[in-house]
Amino acid sequence: MILQVKDLEVYYGSIRALQGISFYVEKGEIVTLIGANGAGKSTTLRTISGLLIPRQGEIYFQGQKINRTPAHQIVRMGISHVPEGRQIFPNLTVMENLLMGAYTRRNRSEVQESLEEVLNRFPRLRERAKQLAGTLSGGEQQMLAMGRGLMSKPTLLILDEPSMGLSPLLVEEIFEIIKNINQQGTTVLLVEQNAYMALQIAHRAYVLETGRIVLSGTSAEIQANPQIRSAYLGEV
Ligand code: ATP
Repeated sequence: MILQVKDLEVYYGSIRALQGISFYVEKGEIVTLIGANGAGKSTTLRTISGLLIPRQGEIYFQGQKINRTPAHQIVRMGISHVPEGRQIFPNLTVMENLLMGAYTRRNRSEVQESLEEVLNRFPRLRERAKQLAGTLSGGEQQMLAMGRGLMSKPTLLILDEPSMGLSPLLVEEIFEIIKNINQQGTTVLLVEQNAYMALQIAHRAYVLETGRIVLSGTSAEIQANPQIRSAYLGEV
């Protein structure tokens, strides 16, 4: 087991956003968290990455407890979080943005190696390496955010809404890339509004509603569930 989340409770002031969430991710898996707006998906991811401190519960990454570990240390341990809305630096070049993703790494030749891997994976970023990131299209910005996330050479890649705002064709492309990243050995925890696409590539899924997990199973099981089909997969 690479990640284990136990009984997580997170508050924003007096609002209880997570009401005791437990789940796990095995090495090599793609696991997806699905659920409506406000269900607590982003909050869960932000807590795992050390951006929020849980009031209760525990998070273990590769057997080590990380719920009080600072975010930069969590990156060093091997978790990389690609946030909702990309959060790239628009006034830096594509290359500068990518290098920011390696800020925790000291070995220059290893960073160079990761950079080559990322530029090979995303040829459009190579073409636009010197361009300001703010001038990229939405899809290219998502690729940049993912490329930057990969620059820390994560064991676990956390993706928050990678398909948001993208055309159907680009959504297909991004999901294909995620599948590929996973096949090459990176474990993925994926949050998506687009439950249909997420379930196409994920091994397992958890369904969140108002800060709780209400259902879990393999992607096939979740896809076959009649309630899920009507609530999240657009069927009547
Ligand atoms: P979305 O897809 O809209 O991001 P989500 O499932 O990721 O939805 P969260 O963003 O985790 O949901 O939000 C969970 C709950 O916490 C919601 O009720 C939301 O209103 C609340 N919340 C989120 N961020 C904050 C914040 N910074 N301050 C106060 N409440 C917040």
